[in-house]
Amino acid sequence: ASTTKLKELDASTLSITKTTTPKELVPWNELVFGRSFTDHMLSIEWTAADGWLPARITPYQNLSLDPASCVFHYAFECFEGMKAYKDSKGQVRLFRPNKNMQRMNESTARIALPTFEQAAMIQLISTFASMEERFIPSTKGYSLYLRPTMIGTQRTLGVGPPGSALLYVIASPVGPYYPTGFKAISLEATDYAVRAWPGGVGDKKLGANYAPCIVPQLQAAKRGFHQNLWLFGEEEFVTEVGTMNMFVAMKNKETGQKELITAPLDGMILAGVTRDCVLSLAKEKLVPEGWNVVERKYTMKELSDAAKDGRLIEAFGSGTAAIVSPIRNISWKNELVDCGLQPEQEAGEIALQMKNWIEEIQYGDVEHEWSYVL
Ligand code: PMP
Repeated sequence: ASTTKLKELDASTLSITKTTTPKELVPWNELVFGRSFTDHMLSIEWTAADGWLPARITPYQNLSLDPASCVFHYAFECFEGMKAYKDSKGQVRLFRPNKNMQRMNESTARIALPTFEQAAMIQLISTFASMEERFIPSTKGYSLYLRPTMIGTQRTLGVGPPGSALLYVIASPVGPYYPTGFKAISLEATDYAVRAWPGGVGDKKLGANYAPCIVPQLQAAKRGFHQNLWLFGEEEFVTEVGTMNMFVAMKNKETGQKELITAPLDGMILAGVTRDCVLSLAKEKLVPEGWNVVERKYTMKELSDAAKDGRLIEAFGSGTAAIVSPIRNISWKNELVDCGLQPEQEAGEIALQMKNWIEEIQYGDVEHEWSYVL
């Protein structure tokens, strides 16, 4: 029996093959999310026998996989979504990359894919992002979306832990989510389909969590809503909105206390990096102004009651793509729950402030430990 130690992911193994056919840049104002990709990709293979093999940056290219690869049959796939930003001095920055790497390791571990050394992966992603620097517009609001992905590659129809895997990262230049300023969205509360459940994997970023959400999303769109709001259980707890975490600001029914509320990390929602930022900025900046910041379960009925009493101040989603996304109203049963914006208003005060606070850190206008200069 072999006693050789499995190799850890090691950034010093990196080899780089540059493209000989650099792509033409898509004009910034024509960027569509996730449509165009940079010149290169980062790949690292793993085998159960050897551990992590040397890392490679190569020209962006097709994968060649056996049709029996387990990713195609049993959904051995998970991913991350993070961004690289260019600051006013032209330096490239990542935003809380350790959070994404931590979350990715939690996803991979749940589906029997290998974990990796976070610091090594951040170093590799940094090298990759620096190489693709020319694709990152220096204009505020623009960024390079990074998509770390891991798949099980073992060629077998046997259901079991993958004996081999591929970790790769591709990058796509993206523009601002709201190029002409906020546009408040309308939601449809989905009660006929469930995204996640206790003991499930709704808190992991598995591809398998996303495909089943498209039909409910299309249903909501068909009825004129931008996104669906995922409820859970007979109590109709509010969990997440589309692919964002959800925040509501309202006055407490008994005490009149202003509260910023979001669902707890109980295994049924993704632990959003942006959610964590909103919570910590709210504690730092809103608590001194008299707000309470609360992670707790809350129901659609509570929102509806608050709206009727005029206690619902504002609601917004949070996520890497938009930072925050203000919510105008929520269709629920036969009601349209008004989330507190004036007709001419596209965002509430907290959403506006959060976007600015987070963005000034991401673009390095304010120095902060969350921003990681390459
Ligand atoms: N919930 C879900 C289901 C998501 O896919 C995302 C996007 N990653 C989020 C919440 C927001 O997470 P983050 O702030 O890390 O982008």
